[in-house]
Amino acid sequence: MSIEVKQINKFFGDFHALKNIDLQVKTGSLVSLLGPSGCGKTTLLRIIAGLETADSGQIFLHEQDVTHQKVQDRHIGFMFQNYALFRHMSVFENIAFGLNVLPRKLRPSKDEIREKVHHLLKLIQLPHVAHALPHQLSGGQRQRVALARSLAVEPKILLLDEPFGALDAKVRKELRQWLRDIHQELHITSLLVTHDQEEALEISDQIVVMNHGNIEQIGDASTLQHSPKTAFVTEFIGEVNAFEGEIIADNTWCYKQYRYKLDKAHLLSDTPVGTAVTAYIRPYQWTISQDKQEAMLQGVIKHIHDVGAFLRLTILEPSTYRFIEVQADVSSTFKVDDLVYLTPKFIQFFPKK
Ligand code: ATP
Repeated sequence: MSIEVKQINKFFGDFHALKNIDLQVKTGSLVSLLGPSGCGKTTLLRIIAGLETADSGQIFLHEQDVTHQKVQDRHIGFMFQNYALFRHMSVFENIAFGLNVLPRKLRPSKDEIREKVHHLLKLIQLPHVAHALPHQLSGGQRQRVALARSLAVEPKILLLDEPFGALDAKVRKELRQWLRDIHQELHITSLLVTHDQEEALEISDQIVVMNHGNIEQIGDASTLQHSPKTAFVTEFIGEVNAFEGEIIADNTWCYKQYRYKLDKAHLLSDTPVGTAVTAYIRPYQWTISQDKQEAMLQGVIKHIHDVGAFLRLTILEPSTYRFIEVQADVSSTFKVDDLVYLTPKFIQFFPKK
């Protein structure tokens, strides 16, 4: 175990920003903290780094209790969204900075530093910019140099706070893949803060979904998509259609005329009769047909978008005037304005919020 967070609580005045946070990050893995603005991601990262103190709880790095250790004793590399490079130093000098300021006993020789910086420049695929100044680089290149600077001192743990936040979507996407590759090469235990679910799903081994200072669920992309434990995770990860209904007799959920029998796969089996329960159905969890039998809904196709692997249909349910997103096979022959019937293949249920 490389990072272990035990029962961390943090208050800002009366505001309870982190609530009994427990988290374990395995050596060599890349884990994302994902959640909406203000849920406590940065605060947790800063507490792990030692830039902020918790009101209670403990932090272990490589099984050592570092709760009361100073930031400089924790051997952590950082990279923040606005982690500006030194403007008047060349790329080479920026990357070498952390090494040049080490105490004399620990400082590598000039030749060793040169070798190391050139190795890092190759790793970030920018061997040709060693003598450039930061303003001569693109935003994406600057972030890569900032990462090389964090890596120069060979941290065992890397903390990244929205590292690509300020960049445009295309560059972000490239850098994500690049970060994943670097991570695979170096195996540095990394914790990354993001509010971008696509980013988290694409690069992380595990994703920690946070909300209001709590951890809602920890899992890989597939677990969060297919087996969410809370309504929040269901709505936050991936697209979903929600329907409010209630439990009627005998473990049966009811939405208008439609009945759906809950079984053990549903977290809410054995919910009392009369409980208001919301059903969540993802676009790929529908059967769409022109046969009315046993359908949950009827609707009219308003839009068809061919995304290559499947068709994306937007269907209007006339009785409620709501739009439902449905994924259909590419070979299907549906047309705009067709009347269709939708039956769920699977539903996630959670108590009404
Ligand atoms: P964002 O994605 O917007 O950065 P976040 O999930 O990283 O959000 P934090 O920055 O950790 O959230 O903040 C969590 C909560 O704690 C927010 O409501 C924030 O306003 C509050 N907070 C953070 N730092 C302080 C502080 N120094 N003083 C008072 N409140 C703070």
